[in-house]
Amino acid sequence: MAARMMDINETEKPLSDTTEDTNADIEEEEICFQDIVLLEEHGISIQDIRKLQAAGINTIKGAQMTITKKLCEIIGSNDEKVAKIKEACTKISLPNCFITASEFSDQRKHLFKLSTGSNALDKLLGGGVESMSITEVFGEFRAGKTQLSHTLCVTAQMPGSNGYLGGKVIFIDTEHTFRPERLRTIADRFNLDPLVVQDNILYARAYNSEHQFELLNNVAAKFHEEAGVFKLLIIDSIMALFRVDYSGRGEIADRQQKLGQMLSRLQKISEEYNVAVFITNQITTDLTTTQQDVVLKPIGGNILAHASTTRVAFLKAEGEKRIAKLYDSPDLAENQVMFSITSGGIADVND
Ligand code: ATP
Ligand code: MG
Repeated sequence: MAARMMDINETEKPLSDTTEDTNADIEEEEICFQDIVLLEEHGISIQDIRKLQAAGINTIKGAQMTITKKLCEIIGSNDEKVAKIKEACTKISLPNCFITASEFSDQRKHLFKLSTGSNALDKLLGGGVESMSITEVFGEFRAGKTQLSHTLCVTAQMPGSNGYLGGKVIFIDTEHTFRPERLRTIADRFNLDPLVVQDNILYARAYNSEHQFELLNNVAAKFHEEAGVFKLLIIDSIMALFRVDYSGRGEIADRQQKLGQMLSRLQKISEEYNVAVFITNQITTDLTTTQQDVVLKPIGGNILAHASTTRVAFLKAEGEKRIAKLYDSPDLAENQVMFSITSGGIADVND
């Protein structure tokens, strides 16, 4: 694996590169980040724009992804005003409304995949943890979910395949298990400067499920402020606080509704800013490590099942070895591989 440390001050594209392709890439990137302030040119008041920004809506795409009811709540007004906003968004984004399948395929070339640190696990995932989607890893305690989260914090900062240059990371910790010192040994493995690695990770501790949701507004604001710089958002773990906050009888429906809202926000963020969203999850019962055909039960029900694009189960095996089993994916075959947890993070068994 390449060991060049990314320089966060580097622009996404080399300035000297003026090929047509590069210009097209930049244009597409700009379309993706059409700022919500453009609405002012279409008669929307700056006060209303500020309200949208305060609610974490920073781009035209972000406003288009939000339903009228929600926009009415944010603006504190009736449908008429919101209809004007929607109309203005359509005008601004009209040229990009419909695209051909080939253009869509071109857009997908902007997707990137982050290495897990294990070639076998990368292969299982079709190349790694993909941007513009949610990847979920679930498994019992000590299965390696947090270790993979830490490893991704480092590998996301390194150049990868398809011209990926590396980027910054946001880590939302709900279980208080983030360890900056753990990043040092992982950075050492890849010959990276641990201090630079740590500086490229923004950390937030979430204290309850509402706080976890609120933090997503800050995430969106950060992704917008430093457009194209952040490449990965980690939530370790997605359900822990929901489990505590909605533990009473008859609270499941309420929990699922709130969870659905949060996951919808996460999905939008991943698409709006072309970032990889990586979440970990717990299971309901312990798994026996030797059984390959155990029934795996991640928590979060159908809401989480539908929101996660790719779901992987981690099972404990002998010593530091672990099994990763692909549980659900839109385009990958069911399969399983072995990897190990080392002082340098997630690695192949024979590394
Ligand atoms: P939980 O559900 O409790 O959060 P988890 O799946 O997040 O569990 P991890 O914390 O990722 O579990 O993995 C714990 C495993 O990682 C333990 O087996 C531990 O021995 C191993 N581990 C932790 N730090 C190191 C290290 N520095 N070197 C090697 N192995 C380590
Ligand atoms: Mg953990």
